[in-house]
Amino acid sequence: MNNENPWIRAKQQLALASDKLGLDKLLFNILSEQDRTIEVSLPIQMDNGSIKVFRGYRVQHSNIQGPYKGGLRYHPKVDMDEVKALAFWMTMKNAIVGVPFGGGKGGIALDPKSLSESELEKLTRLFARRLFDVIGAYKDVPAPDVNTNSKIMGWIADEYKKQFKVQSSKFKVSENELQAVVTGKPLGKGGSEGRTQATGYGGAQVLMSMLKKLGKSPKGLTVAIMGFGNVGRYIANFLQIEGFKIVGLCDSRGGIYIPDGIQDTEEINKCKEEKGFLSGCYCVGSVCDFKNKEKLNGNDIIKPEDILELPVDILVPAALENVITHENADKIKARIILEMANGPTTLEADKILNKKGVIVIPDILANSGGVATSYFEWYQNLHNEHWKEDEVLKKLKEKMETASEEVYAASLEYKTTLREAAYILALKRIEKTWKTQNITT
Ligand code: NAD
Repeated sequence: MNNENPWIRAKQQLALASDKLGLDKLLFNILSEQDRTIEVSLPIQMDNGSIKVFRGYRVQHSNIQGPYKGGLRYHPKVDMDEVKALAFWMTMKNAIVGVPFGGGKGGIALDPKSLSESELEKLTRLFARRLFDVIGAYKDVPAPDVNTNSKIMGWIADEYKKQFKVQSSKFKVSENELQAVVTGKPLGKGGSEGRTQATGYGGAQVLMSMLKKLGKSPKGLTVAIMGFGNVGRYIANFLQIEGFKIVGLCDSRGGIYIPDGIQDTEEINKCKEEKGFLSGCYCVGSVCDFKNKEKLNGNDIIKPEDILELPVDILVPAALENVITHENADKIKARIILEMANGPTTLEADKILNKKGVIVIPDILANSGGVATSYFEWYQNLHNEHWKEDEVLKKLKEKMETASEEVYAASLEYKTTLREAAYILALKRIEKTWKTQNITT
């Protein structure tokens, strides 16, 4: 794994696009820093009676476009610089997909699999209390990210509401507004239809739009996906529905490569949900325990990182950052990379891919379907509405198609890569809003 600091990379990306656009210098300096960084200590009593102290982070990068918005990640590698980069990318992403939010991100450094559910709930509720003063429907709205889900968002919404009643009882705020403090909640607690599958669905729409521009049909194009969590699982399913041939999948423990195409990625998902990991959902050694045993015989079991170098048309990194590096970029055979993970490609790798003529559909466009649907959830909460799944996905499809067309058009206008075009588009929009705000000093 490459150790490139994602925040340094984010600043370099900002500098390159700002130069090309001629961004106002003051705004450049504002966006090169964070509005606010928060680091909290989270001591909790573990089930065995011992006390363990965890570290939590929230970064509020910019609220020029609206309340800070971005996910919470639970992972051992979470640190301040990672969260700063992720918050900055949220500012860009929200501007590209046209939702009225700024950028924020947060997380706790921990391995969630090492905690019991009650420990995880205790920790999450304490984190929500620590963040109480700085989050809210019109201040900062967290959401799920790596290793967090609707249950965790439900705990945060509930804890926020409890604290509000204790600490802010003199302010009148509607239940709807209290609910809109986080998105990605369970359906029964103000969550939106379609939110769970939104990032994967949105990514599939972006890829379809870009292929249309390139005059290519999805039928039979081969795809390998790194990461089989919320994002990887749904994008696999939606791409399969559109006629792509999914040949490679992996999670952190191992992968599967079936050159003729995986029959049904949803079956694999069911197996993964039962076992907790992909490994064993197909073959262990020479024994295949997956339903389509006979068809899978003879295919390879591969290591997670091997997924990146498979002979496929399209590669979809959907796990963590810094997986495509100067060490493996040259070995990548895919002609298109759809970045569903945040920050999967290092700067050096990006240059190598660009030279090779690989089309990289950047993270800040490709995975923006999640936050677009978070916006729909926030809107429904605040307006006391409940939209059907079809309606949510229809609106999402439109948003993703529009954003893809705008990024593509900017790449032609500025004669640049899709990544730089996406940054230019975002910065143009932020600059336009900033100039109307007159709060520069
Ligand atoms: P998740 O926790 O549901 O899944 C992550 C997956 O990656 C798991 O299958 C895990 O096993 C796998 N993984 C971890 N390390 C790996 C490694 N070294 N090699 C191969 N696989 C590995 O997380 P998610 O919500 O699916 O998020 C994945 C990525 O997408 C992250 O970069 C996240 O920031 C980004 N993203 C998520 C959303 C969302 O709505 N969930 C929205 C936008 C962006």
